[in-house]
Amino acid sequence: MASTTLKLPVYFDHAATTPCDPRVVQAMLPYFTERFGNAGSRNHKFGWEAEDAIEGAREHCAALIGASPKEIVFTSGATEGNNLAIKGVAEMYERAPAGRGGRGHIVTAMHEHKAVLDPCKRLMKEGFDVTFLQPRPDGIITAEMVRGALRDDTILVSIMWANNELGTINEVPEIGRMIRELRKGGGRDDIVFHTDATQWVGKMPTNVETDGIDLMTWSGHKIYGPKGVGGLYVRRRNPRVRLVSQIDGGGQERGFRSGTHNVTGIVGLGEACRIARAEMDSDRERLFRLRTRLETSLLGALDHSQVNGHKDRRLPHIANISFGFVEGEGLMMAIKNIACSSGSACTSASLEPSYVLKSLGVGDELAHSSLRLSMGRWTTEEQVDYAAAEITKAVRKLREMSPLYEMHLEGIDITKIEWQQH
Ligand code: PMP
Repeated sequence: MASTTLKLPVYFDHAATTPCDPRVVQAMLPYFTERFGNAGSRNHKFGWEAEDAIEGAREHCAALIGASPKEIVFTSGATEGNNLAIKGVAEMYERAPAGRGGRGHIVTAMHEHKAVLDPCKRLMKEGFDVTFLQPRPDGIITAEMVRGALRDDTILVSIMWANNELGTINEVPEIGRMIRELRKGGGRDDIVFHTDATQWVGKMPTNVETDGIDLMTWSGHKIYGPKGVGGLYVRRRNPRVRLVSQIDGGGQERGFRSGTHNVTGIVGLGEACRIARAEMDSDRERLFRLRTRLETSLLGALDHSQVNGHKDRRLPHIANISFGFVEGEGLMMAIKNIACSSGSACTSASLEPSYVLKSLGVGDELAHSSLRLSMGRWTTEEQVDYAAAEITKAVRKLREMSPLYEMHLEGIDITKIEWQQH
């Protein structure tokens, strides 16, 4: 029940974006006004101040992921980072002259974010081959699956660390180490391993060295930093990864990414990474307790509800739950005071069930009636209890109006009904 102190709507969409931490905002503020210099201005104090701030941020980013500061490239976010990583590798490591087909092979997964799928699709049109691995029904991509898909002409493996809709965690360190072993075996120093770690970095411990990562993307606005800024890790040793730049110009970021530095954004990203490193463990434990509270409440109150994706191998703050016998659009309408994502995406003409859930084999009906509830640094028990109560109420009410649920209660096996299609 809503208490008087609860501010509505409650925010359960932290996988989409997070609020900026006030400490991040404080760190950024001077760089809008008195320290406004261009880091490219080498001849005066304003430029030096901006450059110092950027290098400080680079150190915080590097420390969070176990990299060296020189291996961090600042971007405008994970979409740009993924495009630079995927297209940059493809163009650098391609096998045959342009336009002749067979330019090289890429391995990725069906449930990647569009910011990985679409660059891969574009490369297919340009003559590269792409394998889209189907995840296991629990949402996981294993090292064995990737190993089985590799070919002699594979130049890139791009597998996300944690899925943005499910929170499920792929076998990324295992894939990284497998590829490293192949390289040691000789002759394969041309396979590059990229991971889109947008949902992972800043939430879970990361070490690009021990985890065998060559390229890794992340984004400020998923970790309590500002929007429009992100990082791309580019390995410099064992092996040195080369990329063809996708934005050319003034040669900033060692030529990987031209354009005047977004100094305020970069300072914010650095501060967000510093805080994440210090507070990750306590955030994670608290979020896990909140998620358990939410799921226990919902699954306990509502039969025919299921958690999508692996029950344990997932990020602690994301719950993706399907509610049987409920029409998805109606559910979203009924829980207007809970800001969350649904298992359907609006295309121009219709409501499409989520391609991520479909890739796991979740049926259209259940995919439509699923919710992604994702919590964050300031989510409270009170908000969780409110969300659980509101969703329970909405699902019960919608089921009361569902003829299918009625039949089910009467003991009719609805899977045996033959439906007349019109
Ligand atoms: N990859 C994943 C896994 C994401 O969740 C997102 C954001 N939804 C992106 C890429 C795109 O990130 P950005 O908004 O920083 O471009």
